[in-house]
Amino acid sequence: MVQRPIYLDCHATTPVDPRVLAAMLPYFTEHFGNAASVSHLYGWEAEAGVQQARATVATTIGATPEEIVFTSGATEANNLAIKGVAEAYLSKGRHIVTIATEHSAVLDPCRYLQTLGFEVTVLPVQQDGLVALADLEQALRADTILVSVMAANNEIGVLQPLAAIGALCHTRQVLFHTDAAQALGKIPLDVEAMQIDLMSLTAHKVYGPKGIGALYVRRRNPKVRLAPQLHGGGHERGLRSGTLYPPQIVGFAKAVELAIAAMPEETERLRALRDRLWQRLTVLDGLHLNGHQTQRLAGNLNISVAGVDGQALLLGLQPMLAVSSGSACSSAQIAPSHVLQALGLTEALAFASVRFGIGRFNTEQDIDQAAACTIATVRSLRQVAHV
Ligand SMILES: *Cc1c(COP(=O)(O)O)cnc(C)c1O
Repeated sequence: MVQRPIYLDCHATTPVDPRVLAAMLPYFTEHFGNAASVSHLYGWEAEAGVQQARATVATTIGATPEEIVFTSGATEANNLAIKGVAEAYLSKGRHIVTIATEHSAVLDPCRYLQTLGFEVTVLPVQQDGLVALADLEQALRADTILVSVMAANNEIGVLQPLAAIGALCHTRQVLFHTDAAQALGKIPLDVEAMQIDLMSLTAHKVYGPKGIGALYVRRRNPKVRLAPQLHGGGHERGLRSGTLYPPQIVGFAKAVELAIAAMPEETERLRALRDRLWQRLTVLDGLHLNGHQTQRLAGNLNISVAGVDGQALLLGLQPMLAVSSGSACSSAQIAPSHVLQALGLTEALAFASVRFGIGRFNTEQDIDQAAACTIATVRSLRQVAHV
């Protein structure tokens, strides 16, 4: 039997935790009702599951249930937040501020809005991946309607200073949106303490099912206005029409609940595994750590290796390790990662990068094998290069 590669790509997605699956199953068969059916038990059961899940998701971010809009994931939540605010605040202005290392699910809606006449300022980040608050402050104008800065980066794991950004935005009366797809269940999130007005969430990065997420939309101080992007039956208080998907919603909440309960110990465990991996890899010379040393997700390690070809490196690792590289991310196009380029890396170093995403089901043995495999692959590539 062929051995399956060790999965170390937890920023791309995670497996569904068996406890999450168990919570979901009754909602496919027994409690299969339409949560919008108000005239019978089947509808009530589905609605009860959704209601409880909504409360769970809300509580974990310091929000109220009415502030949660279920979506198909973070991509849709980002689109709803950015386009929804743009459309609703036209009378205030047409200027949006974001940063260069955002996920394409933020950058692309912004680019789309540019074609409609909106102005978008894409701020650079510093070498460590953090946005400079002074840059952000300078970028704000009287007609700025929205600042969108992610909580945790999906490539380099860098954690942006949400509370400081939130405070700045509120002082200047600009709405603050954060894409927290990678942060949910990994770091504490509190929309009050961090003064966040809109927050995108997704389940599948935190051991929940794919195809479900949410947008948090602040209801008071201030009440955020949002133009819906999907029109229909008026679900989710008119902000996102479409029949709710109770198994996914219940699974999402279960995943969040489990992650929050285990967060302190799991963060320490992942940090120890990540540091162990880094420690082992440092026998290689020409190794670069991409992103801030400590201000990053515990399970993230992103490295570049000087003097090796990026494609060859990834191909070499493939049989043993399921990891991602800083290239060929989007479709058939091979381009260096926009995130690594924003850190100032050369094209060669951006290509020759490996993203390790360590997660709940990884062990010390996985880490030791990953380190050994990476070291052996790099050494053999360098040897070939010198022949
Ligand atoms: C995965 C991810 C997304 C996309 O989320 P989906 O739920 O898959 O649409 C958006 N932003 C970030 C930072 C991500 O990591």
